[in-house]
Amino acid sequence: MSTPTNTVHNFNAGPSILPKSVFEQASAAVLNFNNSGLSILELGHRTAAFTAVMEEARALVKELMQLNNNYEVLFLHGGASTQFMQVPMNLLDSKERAAYTDTDIWGYKAIKEAKLFGGVDVVCSSRDKNYSFIPKDFAVPNDAKYLHITTNNTIYGTQWQQIPFCSNSLVADMSSDIFSRVLDFNRFDLIYAGAQKNMGPAGVNLVIVNKNILGKTKRIIPTMMDYRNHINEASMLNTPPVFAVYVCLLTLRWLKNIGGIAAVEKLNIEKANLLYNAIDESDLFVGTAVKEDRSKMNVCFVMNDNSREDDFLQFAKSKGIVGIKGHRTTGGFRASIYNAMPISSVQVLVDAIKAFK
Ligand SMILES: *Cc1c(COP(=O)(O)O)cnc(C)c1O
Repeated sequence: MSTPTNTVHNFNAGPSILPKSVFEQASAAVLNFNNSGLSILELGHRTAAFTAVMEEARALVKELMQLNNNYEVLFLHGGASTQFMQVPMNLLDSKERAAYTDTDIWGYKAIKEAKLFGGVDVVCSSRDKNYSFIPKDFAVPNDAKYLHITTNNTIYGTQWQQIPFCSNSLVADMSSDIFSRVLDFNRFDLIYAGAQKNMGPAGVNLVIVNKNILGKTKRIIPTMMDYRNHINEASMLNTPPVFAVYVCLLTLRWLKNIGGIAAVEKLNIEKANLLYNAIDESDLFVGTAVKEDRSKMNVCFVMNDNSREDDFLQFAKSKGIVGIKGHRTTGGFRASIYNAMPISSVQVLVDAIKAFK
């Protein structure tokens, strides 16, 4: 296998970096899956070989997150954005209300979809402060069917450090910090995440649902949209995105091998501290998120003199650093330092921040 002479340090927000060993195993499986003589791409999804992949992936999610037996794990199509619609379709009757938090463009989009299905109370928002912080003082109405949060705000680089309390169901979009830190995942009734940030390639999303909350709405739900149908068919209601699921399985195995979520969280804290300290100590750069709410996955920063941002991008590129341009809606920089990002690459960025004059 050929390796590039200059190492590339990939800080893309998503699709994003995965462990190198995962890329190697995935590419080998494209040519010959488990010595079957067949490519993973041409294997029937109902074969014993692929159902074993699906079952191991579903079981590993439960094991790594220490989920109890009320939970079902699904690998579905449509990305996290489809969940913005599928969640309220399954959980919220038209006369009921749900509580939503507006802490990023993603949560904002989720609110828009939920309103198609029922009443929505936006219980807090940081929109008028450019989503630079996580609101702390807000109340969730007692009649809220569920509270929806976006645990990590990919675009603006904030993260809920304390998971809020809700007397009913807690629902979370964990697309950009799933498997990155220890939480009591059994507190959530539904968790969803697009794979392409911390778990695998684009093309599949993970849905974890407490099966006891399903079947309560009176709405008629189309077959493909009803979580219960996917549960009954063990996440194979139709052809799943087989390759994407397989790459997720490889990433989940990698995570288990390095010690699971607690072990990777320690590394994530180290990486985030290293980078934020460099930004805080610099005279040229400044972090955009309120310190106590800073994300350990997406580090957002700008230059005091923004006319120099292109120069820094060029300088960084000369060091092999790619993917640090901020989201098209925010400008500045965003360095995404997901689970698979080695601390050595973060050090390269830190050195560039310190060396830039
Ligand atoms: C990227 C992202 C999404 C959108 O995911 P798609 O798979 O592209 O639909 C939703 N929520 C969050 C928090 C994200 O980071």
